[in-house]
Amino acid sequence: MKSPHINIKTYMPEGTYSVDFFPELNPIDHQNIENYLQSFFMALQQVQKELSSVAKLREVPPFYFTRCSGCQMYILTNRDLNSSIPCHNCNKNSNTQPIQNNLMLKAALMKIWAHLNNPVSKDTTAWLHLL
Ligand SMILES: [Zn+2]
Repeated sequence: MKSPHINIKTYMPEGTYSVDFFPELNPIDHQNIENYLQSFFMALQQVQKELSSVAKLREVPPFYFTRCSGCQMYILTNRDLNSSIPCHNCNKNSNTQPIQNNLMLKAALMKIWAHLNNPVSKDTTAWLHLL
């Protein structure tokens, strides 16, 4: 079984980092979405623990799903929109674009945002409309 992979990008003047999450389970579907979330939360918790003294997880943009243009894998990330993301699965670079009109992924994001205790700010509300 492949294990999930996390890619961390740091933003230096701010002392923050973004996280790209590549699941061991792909495609993500209704059967494995709960396992997917569990695996993400565990991996993220580990990262946050290790980096807590040096940097903070960025809050903007909130996490969203994008898709690799090479292998079509879903990637969960909080990088800036339209930024280049290297795929851990196929090594191709894509520009991040939030996936729209996918109810399952939208529901997953709601759980992720709730888990991270993002206050329902104007930012988050705007994102809900976008997704
Ligand atoms: Zn790929």
